[in-house]
Amino acid sequence: MSQPIRMCIACRERALQSDLQRLQIIDGKLVEFTKAGRSFYVCKTCITCNAKKLLKIVNHRCKTHHQTLSECGKIFKEIGTDG
Ligand SMILES: [Zn+2]
Repeated sequence: MSQPIRMCIACRERALQSDLQRLQIIDGKLVEFTKAGRSFYVCKTCITCNAKKLLKIVNHRCKTHHQTLSECGKIFKEIGTDG
């Protein structure tokens, strides 16, 4: 049985979907995927070790630069610690 492969938006590494975290942006805010709308994947390495790069890419995707590292960091932390 083959699992779907997805790409991390930050490091562009491909990994099993189950090994990636699915996020989306709603009203310029980074949130966990709500099962609706456009989304993207990030790998756990980028969440834990590459948050600054990830933030830059997220802000680019948001088309705003209002997201701060502490805001994103909070979400990354929640994601990084729940499994
Ligand atoms: Zn990555």
